[in-house]
Amino acid sequence: MRRVTIFGATGSIGQATIDLIARRPGDFRVVALTGGRNVAQLAEDARALNAEIAVTAHDDALPELRERLAGSRIETAAGEAALVEAAARPADWIMSGIVGAAGLVPGLAALKQGTTLALANKESLVCAGALVLAEAKAHGATLLPVDSEHSAVFQALVGEDMGAVERVILTASGGAFRDWPLEKLARATPAEAASHPNWDMGTRITIDSASLFNKALELVEAREFFDLDPGQLEVVLHPESLVHALVGFNDGALMAHVGPPDMRHAIGYALNWPERRDLPVDRLDLVAAGALTFRGPDETRHPALRLAREVMEAGGLSGAVFCAAKDAALDAFIDGRIGFLDMARVVEDVLDRTAGRLPGEMTQETVADTAALARREADAIAGTIAAA
Ligand code: NAD
Ligand code: MG
Repeated sequence: MRRVTIFGATGSIGQATIDLIARRPGDFRVVALTGGRNVAQLAEDARALNAEIAVTAHDDALPELRERLAGSRIETAAGEAALVEAAARPADWIMSGIVGAAGLVPGLAALKQGTTLALANKESLVCAGALVLAEAKAHGATLLPVDSEHSAVFQALVGEDMGAVERVILTASGGAFRDWPLEKLARATPAEAASHPNWDMGTRITIDSASLFNKALELVEAREFFDLDPGQLEVVLHPESLVHALVGFNDGALMAHVGPPDMRHAIGYALNWPERRDLPVDRLDLVAAGALTFRGPDETRHPALRLAREVMEAGGLSGAVFCAAKDAALDAFIDGRIGFLDMARVVEDVLDRTAGRLPGEMTQETVADTAALARREADAIAGTIAAA
């Protein structure tokens, strides 16, 4: 019996993880499930999986969670400290499936118990890559990538020597707006951005896919996870979303990971690692798939990629600025305060304003302070844009 905990259990990644775990009832014992306001889902899954504890991130959601779990033996708790406490409960495998920078602190707490952390929460590595990696090392914890591109790279690297890696190519679908003219992009609505042509994901990451901020975060994530030079990382647009990433070696070989867009593959690989086991994903029919097409990204349409390169070059806490400014800009777009193209403008301005003002040392505190500073700056800039 492996003990598993799922952070962000009610989200898209969390639900896909639960789907895999529920198919093998004899193999797993569920320790903690965590979620946000969707306590109905959280309680239903906690009951179905007989979890030890269910935790909501929101204190005011606790009474409803308690009520829904009344009569069961499942413990309940709420708030940030409760999330950290849940992360410390002994588990053999923990899914980091919270969205945004909020995933960092529970992730760090999980690493402290020397467990295996399946990292869907890319923001942790973007905000505080050095800290996450150091914490994993210090406690003998294992970090496994769950982002489909990073899982693809990880799989292409099995048995290889990192010294033979020349380049890593991440593919991007281009999201909802890949064929829209630039003029139309300026007026794109959150609802339009939140509909992805190939992947079924949470709202925030889907909008980030349309702006390519998701790919921008993934560049930084790949740099941190695989310890690559920024110059070794490339992005190509691949509208079919069947090739997830490619690794180029010094003998010219290019190893591609190909499969249908279903996150249960990458989650399942991390769940079963280092083995491979049968997974309930469609098998790709290459003939039915037909042509696979690729094109270069256009940085005038996708300034997020240029900003990611600046962040990778700057290093240190610039990733925390990038992540928090992007989160704040995304909130402003979702609330209708700024337009779709304004998100990159906000993030770029925040990077400019904070450059040279960041602490040199990366600790949990400096990351939190830097993120708070970046958020304030981003909100102020978004306010100016909204007023104009
Ligand atoms: P989602 O919005 O569907 O779910 C997010 C989960 O996090 C929910 O359970 C929510 O309750 C919880 N949450 C949100 N804010 C929180 C907070 N402040 N504190 C505690 N919990 C909070 O998101 P998702 O699409 O499942 O994405 C989760 C993570 O996985 C993100 O980092 C995303 O970038 C990454 N990811 C997702 C996919 C995908 O297919 N959905 C693919 C690759 C990577
Ligand atoms: Mg991805």
